[in-house]
Order: sequence, then structure tokens, then C-alpha cells
Amino acid sequence: MAPNNASDMLAKFKDPALCRNLLDKIRAELPGPLAFMEVCGTHTVAIFQSGLRSLLPEGIRHLSGPGCPVCVTHEGEVAAFLELARKDNVIIATFGDLIRVPGPKGTSLKQAQAEGCRIEIVYSAFDALALARKHPESRIVFLGVGFETTAPTVAATIKVAKEQGLDNFLVFAMHKLVPPALAALLQDPEVNVDALILPGHVSTIIGVEPYRFLAEQHGVPSVITGFEPLDILQALLLIIDQRKTGRPQVVNQYSRAVADNGNPKAREVMAEVFTVSDALWRGLGRIPDSGLALADEYQRFDALTTLGVQVHDLPPLPGCRCGDVLKGKMQPNHCPLFNKTCTPATPVGPCMVSTEGSCAAYYKYAL
Ligand code: SF4
Repeated sequence: MAPNNASDMLAKFKDPALCRNLLDKIRAELPGPLAFMEVCGTHTVAIFQSGLRSLLPEGIRHLSGPGCPVCVTHEGEVAAFLELARKDNVIIATFGDLIRVPGPKGTSLKQAQAEGCRIEIVYSAFDALALARKHPESRIVFLGVGFETTAPTVAATIKVAKEQGLDNFLVFAMHKLVPPALAALLQDPEVNVDALILPGHVSTIIGVEPYRFLAEQHGVPSVITGFEPLDILQALLLIIDQRKTGRPQVVNQYSRAVADNGNPKAREVMAEVFTVSDALWRGLGRIPDSGLALADEYQRFDALTTLGVQVHDLPPLPGCRCGDVLKGKMQPNHCPLFNKTCTPATPVGPCMVSTEGSCAAYYKYAL
């Protein structure tokens, strides 16, 4: 019977019989060992939660890359937002996960809040703008983390702040761009990745073109993929096909959500409000042209310049191996702190804090 609504259709993408068929096909057609990496926290969780990771044939190795926005937030950025939180008359508006990320000496926004700093959890940048309206006497600093997916709504919010003259709304722009990080990753001689599963959400904005270099310059089969088990298995089959024919490509498996040219309107607002800049990534260091800073016309909304705070290239937290986990060089359970001093209740690094972090996913689903 044909599916009659969206949830029926999505149920098909989880169908156990269809999944088993694809798994059998993968087993039969796998030409040799294959290490694939996903670079999206939602894929990390989907692969663990659905049980796919434990069902994959022995020759397939699953690696998680730098795809969780909270996890890639650099140590120096964490130190900077802790400094912002301690400024007079500032309210930090942040997504929930960030509040527990340990900074230098293990302090976090949660601790800063306990010490009297004003921290508000918000669910969008527009919530932060509402705070700016509600507290005209305070400066609201929104912590803008995330990839190309979240940057357009933050850009749109800044535009509204400008239109409405809400100059007490400030943004600490920590947004990061995925393709330059992938280029940096593939240039790292210590990273061994045969194929990539590309992020569905980011791709809805940027489309297919920005990934072409993965196949053309690095010879890495890459598939833009949805988040259901069937999507992921189909992506693996598409990768195996490319391995067999020896013709690496970038394939859009998630065409039900991702247009080949992405979302031009979203990119337009991003390009108006932000300018491409270098960025610091946890584990990957400074990557040229991989971040978004506020464009000249919107500089007055920049929290760092307005409040006189700088981001420094600080070393990793002692003992934490998030950098190696984010590069797929280390499985979370091989970190000496995993499930000892570092657990979701007592996280030492952001990969254990975020619900999309590899260490948290491994702790929740693979132990
Ligand atoms: S287990 Fe904890 S300390 Fe180790 S890499 Fe993961 S988050 Fe970092």
C-alpha cells in the first residue's frame, strides 16, 4: 500500500525488512575494508540509536568526524564566552548544551551562573532578541554556534535587530563552515578515511557544489545522506558502488530535502550579515576561511569588539582527547578518561556534554 502521509513515508525509511535487504547487499558487495566517516552529530546519534553500528559487516569501520557544533567549539572560544559572562550588565543567551562545556580550569557557564552571572537558555536567536527587548538596560550576548544550518537564522535575527534599533543585542559569532574543515581533515596525514557521509542539514543550505573537491581533488567517495536507517544504508551502498567502479563522486542521496543548489535565499542573508573568516576548531586548530565573522555593516552587533574580549588559541583541557575523537583518530572508549572521570554527569570535554557528541552517543548506546 502506498504511504498516505509523511510519517508513513518516514516509517518506510526504518523498515526492518528493507534494512536487512540492504545490509545483505552491502555484505555481498563490499569489495574490501572500508572506513567511512560521518560529519554530522545527527548522523552520529542516528547510527548509534538505530543499532546500525553494531549491524555493519566486519570490514566496515564507522568514524565520527567534527560534526557536532558544540564539540568543535574551541577551548579559546569557551574561555572568551566565560569572560563575556563576567562582564558588567551582560546576559548570556545560549543553547542548552553549551552551558555545561568545561573551559579553562574546568569552569563552565553553569558554574558562572552559580556564581551570579546571568545566563539564559534560549531555543533560537529570536528568543535572544526577545530578551534584548525585555531587558533594554542590559546587553544580551547570544552565543552563535553551529554550521551553515544555523547561521542563516542568526543572520536574519541580526538584520531584525538592526531594523528595530536593538543595539543591546550582541552576537559572539562562532559559526563554522563544513567544507573547509573537510579539506583540512583530508589533508591531515594521520586521518584515514575512505569515504564520507555528508551532513543532510548543512547541505540543505549549501547544496552539492561546495563538496565536489572531495571526489575531484581527494578521490573520496562522498554521499549527502538523510538520517533514517535506510538512508544511511543506501549511502553505504552508493559508496561501495563508487569504490567498485573506481570513480569517486559526490552523490545526493537526500534529494527529498536537499536541492542541488541548496537554499540561495539562506545563503544570501548569510552573505549580507557575515563575512568569511579564519576559525579555530577544537582538535583541528585554525582553519583558513572556515568561519563567519560579522560584516562591516553589522560590526556594532559584534560582542567581542563591543565588550573588548579576544579569542586566544588555548591548549586542550588536560587529559581530554576530544581533538583525536573529532578527527576519527580515536574511538571514544579508548580515551583514558571515558566512563571513569568523564561521564555525561561529569563531562570533562564537550564530546561528552553534547547530545550529538560521539562520547555521549557511545556512552548512551554502545556501553
Ligand atoms: S571521554 Fe571525555 S575526556 Fe575523553 S575525549 Fe570524550 S569528552 Fe573528552
